[in-house]
Amino acid sequence: MIACSCEVCSSEDPRDQRLRVSMHVEINGKSFIIDTGPDFRQQILRAGIRHVDAVLFTHEHKDHTAGLDDIRGFNFAQQAAIPLYAREQVINQLKREFAYAFDEHKYPGVPEIDVYEIDDQPFIVEGIEVIPILVKHYFLDVLGFRFGDFTYITDANFIADEELAKVKGTKVLVINALRKTKHISHFTLDEALEVIEKIQPERAYITHISHMMGLHAEVQRELPPRVFLAHDGLSLTI
Ligand SMILES: [Zn+2]
Ligand SMILES: [Zn+2]
Ligand SMILES: [Zn+2]
Repeated sequence: MIACSCEVCSSEDPRDQRLRVSMHVEINGKSFIIDTGPDFRQQILRAGIRHVDAVLFTHEHKDHTAGLDDIRGFNFAQQAAIPLYAREQVINQLKREFAYAFDEHKYPGVPEIDVYEIDDQPFIVEGIEVIPILVKHYFLDVLGFRFGDFTYITDANFIADEELAKVKGTKVLVINALRKTKHISHFTLDEALEVIEKIQPERAYITHISHMMGLHAEVQRELPPRVFLAHDGLSLTI
């Protein structure tokens, strides 16, 4: 956190140094990115990702979209437009924030994107079925995504039972928890643990963690078996 000197922000444990949340999913040789936050470029370079088949957006908040301009790198590398999948209100927001990428006569070098509108119904990307999970982030609708036995949900503070039913049976669940104390639009750690308890995945990972959550090593010790704090650069195989 800018201008913060708390024990987490000044920790030398790399697991306490957190960029904004995002996810790279590789499945059947296809490469998907979920969200392009302000740290997108740094994260892609760090992870050494050389190819992307599609970008999926959870919602329109800036910490999930601000890095979209850097998709240009993949345009140059792949000599192709990059498909984006998002709900209508997210697309509208992207059109406002990155208007130059949607111009009819584009300036050379601006991001080349193909936009596909999705809703809460399952859809196919590059032959892969993706099941959206519609969650609430205070009054904002956000999509989580399920790919086979893996589900990623971020920026939720409420999940209706019928949406939770779509998550049942998932082996690995990634879910957000901002901190231990109540927040208006994010699950607390206890609230996320309640969701994990209902779903009973083989493993669960907590993401979108604020510096107010506490030190990674200390919080991890308090967690139930098979529940882990995620950290930057974490790679999971399912
Ligand atoms: Zn801090
Ligand atoms: Zn958000
Ligand atoms: Zn967020």
